[in-house]
Order: sequence, then C-alpha cells, then structure tokens
Amino acid sequence: MTCACGNYTRFAHFGGKTSDMASMSVRHLNISYDGYVPAIEGIGGGDYYDFKVCLECGRLQGFKTPLSDTEVRESIGQENEENEWLIDKILEAKKENWSIEEIVLLLEEDGSRTDLIETFQDVDAGHWTQQEVIDIINGNW
Ligand SMILES: [Zn+2]
Repeated sequence: MTCACGNYTRFAHFGGKTSDMASMSVRHLNISYDGYVPAIEGIGGGDYYDFKVCLECGRLQGFKTPLSDTEVRESIGQENEENEWLIDKILEAKKENWSIEEIVLLLEEDGSRTDLIETFQDVDAGHWTQQEVIDIINGNW
C-alpha cells in the first residue's frame, strides 16, 4: 500500500470492538448516532473500528472522498426516504428562520408529509429555526 503522499512503509493500523457502542455526530445533517460502527470504507463497520493512518501525512487510508450526505446516512442505516427530500430542501435553503407559510408551501410541494401541516399550525410560534423544523419532521419534537 502506498499513501497519496508517497509514503509506503510507515502506517499505524487501529482497531477496536465496540459492542454496539460506537457513535457518530454529523452536525450539518442533524445526525447524532449511537450503535454499530458506521459502515464507511476506511473506518470500519459492524462491531469494529478498523483503520489505517499514514504516519507521514495523517491521511486515513482507503477513505473515499467526497463522502456524500446520502452515503453518510446510509452508513448508519438511517436513510429515511420519506423525509429525505424535505430535509434536503430545508438544508439547501440555508435559512435560519422559517415562517408557517414557507413551511406549508414546502410540505405541499413534497406531498408525502402533509399530515405535518396541522402540527405546525397547532404550535404556531410565528417562526421556527431550521433545527426546529427538522426536529418536527423527524418526530423529535
Ligand atoms: Zn501519507
């Protein structure tokens, strides 16, 4: 194995059995996960962390970049297709605050979670932060 930096001799190989107690946080996707090791090439999977680091440049060996948001979600089996389009739209908008009108428009455009319109109308706070909108959609309200 040769690292992208040219080093082919100096690596450290790390491993560990987690007994389902691995964790991963991905702030921009609102992921705070506990369980098996995320199945990501270069990191590990199942019950084991298993990674190799170049001692010259620090690169993780075998970690494919870029790792898409979808791949990150898939790595922990949290691919929620029902809400994925909605959450992606909300994250793409990069809006800190959402009005009820904007939320209703988005829910109607998506069509699969119009049941949430009532939930938002019931707790009409005037506006919601991006995080609150995502929490309500994910049922963490
Ligand atoms: Zn290297």
